Amino acid sequence: MSRINLLSQRLANQIAAGEVVERPASVVKELLENSLDAGADKLEVDVEQGGVKLLKIKDNGVGIHKDDLALALSRHATSKIADLEDLENIRSLGFRGEALASISSVSRLAMTSRSAEDGDGNGWKVSVEGQEMEANLSPAAHPQGTTVEVRDLFFNTPARKKFLKTEKTEFSRIDEVVKRIALSRFDVMFNLNHNQRAIHNLLPAKSDQEKQRRVGLVCGPAFVENSVFVEMESSGLRLWGWVSLPTFSRSQADLQYFYVNGRIIRDKLVTHAVKQAYRDVLFHGRHPAYVLYLELAPSAVDVNVHPTKHEVRFRDSRLVHDFLFSSLHKALAAVKPSDQMLAAHSQGAAGEFPGSNYSQQSDSGFVGRQEGLSLADSGGQTYFSGDRSGAVNPNHVQQQMETYARLQADDAEVPPLGYAIAQLHGIYILAQNKEGLIVVDMHAAHERITYERMKTACENEELKMQPLLVPLSISVSQSEADCADNQKKTLLNLGIELERVAEESIIVRQIPSILRDANIEQLVRDVLSDVLEYGSSDRIQSHQDEMLSTMACHGSVRANRQLSIPEMNALLRDMEATERSGQCNHGRPTWVYQSMDELDKLFLRGQ
Ligand code: ADP
Ligand code: MG
Repeated sequence: MSRINLLSQRLANQIAAGEVVERPASVVKELLENSLDAGADKLEVDVEQGGVKLLKIKDNGVGIHKDDLALALSRHATSKIADLEDLENIRSLGFRGEALASISSVSRLAMTSRSAEDGDGNGWKVSVEGQEMEANLSPAAHPQGTTVEVRDLFFNTPARKKFLKTEKTEFSRIDEVVKRIALSRFDVMFNLNHNQRAIHNLLPAKSDQEKQRRVGLVCGPAFVENSVFVEMESSGLRLWGWVSLPTFSRSQADLQYFYVNGRIIRDKLVTHAVKQAYRDVLFHGRHPAYVLYLELAPSAVDVNVHPTKHEVRFRDSRLVHDFLFSSLHKALAAVKPSDQMLAAHSQGAAGEFPGSNYSQQSDSGFVGRQEGLSLADSGGQTYFSGDRSGAVNPNHVQQQMETYARLQADDAEVPPLGYAIAQLHGIYILAQNKEGLIVVDMHAAHERITYERMKTACENEELKMQPLLVPLSISVSQSEADCADNQKKTLLNLGIELERVAEESIIVRQIPSILRDANIEQLVRDVLSDVLEYGSSDRIQSHQDEMLSTMACHGSVRANRQLSIPEMNALLRDMEATERSGQCNHGRPTWVYQSMDELDKLFLRGQ
């Protein structure tokens, strides 16, 4: 060990930069947040070579007073908080007073600004040099607001620079940052250019329609068309935004935006609550898409837990978790065939569900289906041969004509899933509504209906508990045993009775009777760890749902059962009335829809 010496300004800042300045995108994030904190409503971002050569952010905010310019670039200098009380009530995006000092220590940074107080006078430009980062000030023309130019990022920290990816990758991360921030402030105009090419021009969005338009521009039109708008408020919490229909799921968790008081976050608690809300309707291994905003009192959330402020801590995490879960759960349960019909109806809607037929996916999907229907394959006039589908039943024809008559009667309200016209190979129901053709997977649909009925029946009863003949002893960690001790009531509500018998040992006395065949030790361990982490657990619920789902599957109409037209219509009406009936218990769609327009296109009619 050698003697101790004081680090130079620049080195100290470079060390701090390690935490906040990971790549060009992190610079963009910090600078955009500064501009928003300065009250700007017009932001221009110019990027060259993925941000490594140049990042330039121009705003029309309040600007920085000449006398403060040098200070702004030094560490622990901020105008956003002054004392501890402020720290507990943060309303600005920044507050650590580190970003500019850090960025300027690892790049060639120049900042030009003119504050409102500078009046008509000139703006001023500041840059730093040397190990002690001396500030140079010179007059420069600038309208009110601030422009920050960051050149040659990491030019003096080669080790850092080596970790950068290709220009394209770095730019796509910048793009993602701009998108995230653009979704957090609908009132602000954003322009993003890369190598002098315009990437985004987002106008301020005021009306709901304009906001939805921005969401479409940022997340793609298909997302907006395949999502529902939610808005809920309770006990000081407000949640609003767009969540995807379960059938518009994605293979990656890449379309998930969650804001807490306007700040984007990635939080385990939030992810868990959302996932839980989708649990019953999402195809295994798929991810929901959402743009959601949670608003609550600033004092109810701690944002100072991570240098990049991507994580937050809720004072009452359980309340937040339950609120998110129940709001979204309700919203998703309420999705009815009529909503999905709207989504399917809008042009170009494209659920990413494998093989989803809600609408044309793309040109190639289009061709795929056309091939299936190719005339050459049909082998001539077999339309009426009836040898595959059984003899044409005169009774059936009669019913079909009645259905048709019902559709024709203009005053009749045609239900969203229409009226059944036939059954195909004992598997699918064909139905027509005013706009086109509906195909229903009979078994999948019935399974969901049975399942939802069983769940309701189950919910209305108390969870029946059953004592174990031989109480099961499990060794656990001390914190798990503590949890078993002081969360007795929560656990009893879940149908589990536990008793702590030693520092690190518990005994299971009773369990929900429906789960008597489950792996009880595993279940109890999982439940304890959930309760420890989230304050609640949905394991029991999810195990119970699984059992019910299996039972429902066995109790549902099997394939190849002939249904009469009235029976089919009854099933369609049940689907319309049943929650989550758009997906079977495994998250696959229960019905698909083709409008007359789409059918006409298949046959190249009117082209
Ligand atoms: P923080 O944002 O945490 O306060 P920064 O290092 O990012 O720390 O910025 C330091 C200070 O410089 C800010 O508190 C603010 O007063 C000022 N500042 C930075 N960027 C801007 C801007 N675009 N417009 C006006 N003031 C700014
Ligand atoms: Mg800042």
